[in-house]
Amino acid sequence: MGTKGKEIVNLDVNNLIDLLNKALADEWLAYYQYWVGAKLVRGLKREAIVSELEEHANEELKHANMLVDRILTLGGKPILKPEDWYKLTNCGYDAPENNDSKAILEQNIKGERCAIAVYNNLLNLTKDKDSITYQMVLSILEDEVEHEDDLQTILEDLQ
Ligand code: FE
Ligand code: FE
Ligand code: MG
Repeated sequence: MGTKGKEIVNLDVNNLIDLLNKALADEWLAYYQYWVGAKLVRGLKREAIVSELEEHANEELKHANMLVDRILTLGGKPILKPEDWYKLTNCGYDAPENNDSKAILEQNIKGERCAIAVYNNLLNLTKDKDSITYQMVLSILEDEVEHEDDLQTILEDLQ
């Protein structure tokens, strides 16, 4: 990273990079959980759920892109091995063993709630310390809040 660009980050940069890599692990696992869930889901409101899951998968991949770009700018190294996703994840991975639409929605809502907590912590950590990471995290957090609400709204329709 450029010298002045690093100087204005008023945080332990290595620790920040570790936290961004943990979020990156979460995003890849969330991406796959949505992506495979969209293939498997059956039951009520299937078509609406498939398009929502596919949309969210794409947005989780976009978040992974944003995180990697920031990790690189900070002089860090993004996760290189998929096996590290499991080692570093905050939110884990829920295999969609039950492909009923209600079960799939509940699993992904749980993941979104975890993501909201993770990004809210990162937001608090970077506030007034690293405006660029703060702004990126805020933008991701907005998406995660929307994701939770989208899925909850469909789940309510089912009930
Ligand atoms: Fe995400
Ligand atoms: Fe999400
Ligand atoms: Mg959506």
